Amino acid sequence: MSLVVQKYGGTSVADSTRIKAVARRVAHTKRAGNDVVVVVSAMGKQTDEMIDLANQVSARPPAREMDMLLTAGERISMALLAMALHDEGIPALSLTGTQAGILTDSSHGEAKITEIRGDRVSQGIAADQVVIVAGFQGVNPDSMDVTTLGRGGSDATAVALAAAHSATVCEIYTDVEGVYTADPRIIPDARKLDEISYDEMLELAAGGAGVLMARSVEVGRKFNIPLHVRSSFMEREGTWVKEEVMEEAIISGIAYDTSEAKVTLRGVPDRPGVAATIFQKLADAKVNVDMIVQNVAEDGCTDISFTVPDSHVDSAQATTTQLESELDATGTSVDTDVGKVSLVGAGMRSTLGVAARVFRALGDAGINIEMISTSSIRISCVVAKGVVEDAVRVLHAEFDPPVIAEDVG
Ligand code: ADP
Ligand code: ASP
Ligand code: MG
Repeated sequence: MSLVVQKYGGTSVADSTRIKAVARRVAHTKRAGNDVVVVVSAMGKQTDEMIDLANQVSARPPAREMDMLLTAGERISMALLAMALHDEGIPALSLTGTQAGILTDSSHGEAKITEIRGDRVSQGIAADQVVIVAGFQGVNPDSMDVTTLGRGGSDATAVALAAAHSATVCEIYTDVEGVYTADPRIIPDARKLDEISYDEMLELAAGGAGVLMARSVEVGRKFNIPLHVRSSFMEREGTWVKEEVMEEAIISGIAYDTSEAKVTLRGVPDRPGVAATIFQKLADAKVNVDMIVQNVAEDGCTDISFTVPDSHVDSAQATTTQLESELDATGTSVDTDVGKVSLVGAGMRSTLGVAARVFRALGDAGINIEMISTSSIRISCVVAKGVVEDAVRVLHAEFDPPVIAEDVG
């Protein structure tokens, strides 16, 4: 029998009617002869609401307690879905991340899955039950404390379970019909992709396309698990994320991210080893550095700018302040008013002039580029936060992909 892992996001389990609809879809998949493992997110915007609540009772909620709080959201939806499945006549077993054997490191709020001990999941499957696992959570085996995997972490739970239990597919049910050429919330005429490679999807997700968590794509790629991103509200095929795709578009999609900040360490002596010192210290402080730009040196000194997630700004600033005296640098400045727009496409590798078109289009629209970084299949630009969405619109229009037959009909 083939095993299907299905993950339902917050909108898909937002209320009792939707939970019952999910139960019917799961029951249908089970009755069609599949083994089914389901991963659920917290209902609707519950995670955001709990974060708000925590911030109301405390100026600095301890990370361990935050995880105790947030893991409750997914537990509510897993139990409700199990009840709804029983009503459908399908035996179901709900399990917390801990019970499902999802072991993680100890980084509360952004824990990484280190191992899956899937005995209870396997036993449930063997007993012909639909196993429902609470997404977004695990347990640190040393402290036995529950942890969360970072925002959007239920995707990671689903793909990791699919890999651990050799599922044939991991279906990601969400509130859009698949992966689009850009976020349909800001580009209403963005096009749904039928398929996209793991590499491109990883770049889009890392660039801020929240439809899939980047780490889930990494796991999918590593274990070659096909991901099918689709709507929980309709039957149509969504987008397949997989190794080989038929066509390599120049631009597959455009992503944006407004949750990063730019940190600049000014007046750094321009001598060998300085960059190594700076970025080693940042790594030691667990600061996640994205883009790096070093200015041309003048009078033996230079400025080094880098971007970090908003949540890492405090640690980054504490580190650079220390480095100022150590390196005799002149100061640190932080700009949280920035955003990043990224163009992704495997066809870029073999097409000349893409970068020039990007810069020209942004320039013609009066959008100033503050930083640039590229990979062989991506071009990212940091711009002022206020014009990020404009930048996405400009670039989507510039690279407006060819209309496909399905859209015409
Ligand atoms: P879920 O709760 O189901 O995990 P998310 O809100 O995490 O849903 O992800 C789905 C959302 O991702 C969509 O509503 C959409 O606004 C956003 N999104 C951003 N970029 C893209 C993209 N390229 N394609 C599709 N959706 C995208
Ligand atoms: N509920 C968590 C969040 O909102 C995890 C998830 O939905 O994937 O980030
Ligand atoms: Mg999500």
